[in-house]
Amino acid sequence: MRKFNFSAGPAALPEAVLLQAQRELLDWGGRGCSVMEVSHRSPEFTEVAETAEQDLRDLLAIPQNYRVLFLHGGATAQFSAVPWNLLGGGDRVADYIRSGHWADKAIVEARRYGQVNVVASSEDRGFTYVPGPTSWRQSENAAYLHYTPNETIGGVEFDYVPAVTCPLVADMSSNILSRPVAVEKFGMIYAGAQKNIGPSGLAVAIVRDDLLDRALPGIPRSLNWKVAADAGSMDNTPPTFAWYLSALVFKWIKGQGGVEAMAEQSLRKSSLLCGFIDRSDFYSSPVERGSRSRMNVPFTLADAALDHLFLQESKAAGLLNLKGHRSVGGMRASLYNAVPVEAVEALLVFMAEFEQRYA
Ligand code: PMP
Repeated sequence: MRKFNFSAGPAALPEAVLLQAQRELLDWGGRGCSVMEVSHRSPEFTEVAETAEQDLRDLLAIPQNYRVLFLHGGATAQFSAVPWNLLGGGDRVADYIRSGHWADKAIVEARRYGQVNVVASSEDRGFTYVPGPTSWRQSENAAYLHYTPNETIGGVEFDYVPAVTCPLVADMSSNILSRPVAVEKFGMIYAGAQKNIGPSGLAVAIVRDDLLDRALPGIPRSLNWKVAADAGSMDNTPPTFAWYLSALVFKWIKGQGGVEAMAEQSLRKSSLLCGFIDRSDFYSSPVERGSRSRMNVPFTLADAALDHLFLQESKAAGLLNLKGHRSVGGMRASLYNAVPVEAVEALLVFMAEFEQRYA
């Protein structure tokens, strides 16, 4: 029996998608084999690849002058790919916003290849808020500005797109496809697949055409966006099963009403949970109001000694993977697209009962 899964990633996938994959696993569309067992260059797989790209383009209204890439290595490979691909255009300074754990990972990687200017940081209050644009000190000639629209661990999310003069690069791993986004405001967007897209290992990248010729000399072939773009993301064998499953997820999102519908649901789910936490004296949110993520909701119990019991009992109640990240402690409920409103309702019933028994 499937349970409600609040995992931060790899995370819940739509049940309808898993059922379809299951049906097609041994005999994909009457071909007598699975999608994993055919050439990535075959006409059958080419159709999967092209449909996935078109559906993603439709969902995010991606303009024609952007390339859509399906890449290996998750989001972490893109932490390196971003400086490798963008710091060769003359200027070696890159601006970064420090908003938490994942922004830091990106910064560490960029420092290996160029000069990083930290434009703003929310370290002073433990990365519990989005650093407001009035405090930013952008470089005059940055090759790009990188930020993390949603910090998966801290549970902090930007609710606006920063206005910058250089190409804007975003790690949307944990909030892509959860709301409409004005792609034309970005130079490059990337996301690890394992939250709102599909299985882990795959990353989706959206790159503006004119940024494909700025790579540093010596860039590894496997990180080179231009090589990937020229080869239709098939310079070498791509993760075909992850690509196929992502294609099913894109269709599923379309069927649900697109990213507008996802945005409505996300707001509903996160408001239900955050509202409940705010009304309670027993649970609290470490994230400042106005900066709270609709995708990842961390919360703590009044007494951390109860954490273990909370996790044990919630699991027994069919509510999976609520443990917070070790760096934050407490709990975290991730509310990605495939997590239904009923999951949040069941969580609230459990939380209320738990509070009654132990407060
Ligand atoms: N960026 C963000 C915002 C993430 O949440 C994660 C993974 N949780 C990563 C990057 C790293 O992704 P991957 O494990 O696919 O490399």
